Amino acid sequence: MDLKLKNKVFIVTGGAKGIGEAITLELAAEGAIPVVVGRSVAAGEAIEKKIKAAGGQCLNIIAELGEAEVCQRVVEETVATLGRIDGVVNNAGVNDGAGLEEGDPARFRQSVMTNLMHYYDMVHYALPQLKEHKGSVVNVSSKTAVTGQGGTSGYAASKGAQLALTREWAVELAPYDVRVNAVIPAEVMTPLYETWLNTFENREEKLKNIVSNIPLGKRMTEAEEIAAMTVFLLSERSAHTTGQWLFVDGGYVHFDRSVT
Ligand code: NAP
Repeated sequence: MDLKLKNKVFIVTGGAKGIGEAITLELAAEGAIPVVVGRSVAAGEAIEKKIKAAGGQCLNIIAELGEAEVCQRVVEETVATLGRIDGVVNNAGVNDGAGLEEGDPARFRQSVMTNLMHYYDMVHYALPQLKEHKGSVVNVSSKTAVTGQGGTSGYAASKGAQLALTREWAVELAPYDVRVNAVIPAEVMTPLYETWLNTFENREEKLKNIVSNIPLGKRMTEAEEIAAMTVFLLSERSAHTTGQWLFVDGGYVHFDRSVT
């Protein structure tokens, strides 16, 4: 299937590591130009080098996305350098454990600031471009938005809000033919997931238990499988799909417990 993404420009926040890295590489493989936004200079340079070595194009922008002005700068730099924006993948996030009992109001606020605000800011500033090019937005949320996890109020609240905004923006932007969808991972081995897993003393046992509860194949979802869905949603091949929450999780969230 030709996704018709050649030379189209897509911003991918957190695009140098984990799920974001897989999305960036898939976009480049399709001939699109990913704009990798992240705070790690080494990771950004590494992915840029990899894409360019394979003959692709990529723009690497180092940014900590906490402030609205930073998102505005990312959008402006993208347009100044590449001349257009065809889509935004809001992906950067941190499961930072700002819980109810163990957390406090300041940590909760900080977590929402880190995980949620830039999803809005990025699309707000990119909107004129998205309207001009009938663009597509993909919000990467988390199963915690619908299942809970415990001990991570700020992250779960942000992930839930991302799903609400997906539907809200899909409605608001439908008149412009701009589509907005969410992709919901559950268990994907990434640097973020490794960090979370390492908080358990019985790490291997915990992982074994999680994997044994994933119905399809008793295995983790691959980052490339999240990327494939995301890139499809960015392409015009999904032209009549909007406001959807796509669970790419091997049946983890929805299957009857008796199945596992
Ligand atoms: P990851 O391995 O940590 O990669 C995320 C990237 O985003 C990192 O490079 C990180 O930078 C960057 N980032 C985070 N916050 C940022 C900020 N404020 N400004 C700039 N860069 C920022 O995470 P991942 O597992 O791929 O997760 C990607 C998305 O999937 C997240 O939204 C997460 O909630 C969601 N998700 C993942 C899983 C899973 O199983 N992995 C499950 C459900 C949902 P640093 O390296 O500097 O931290």
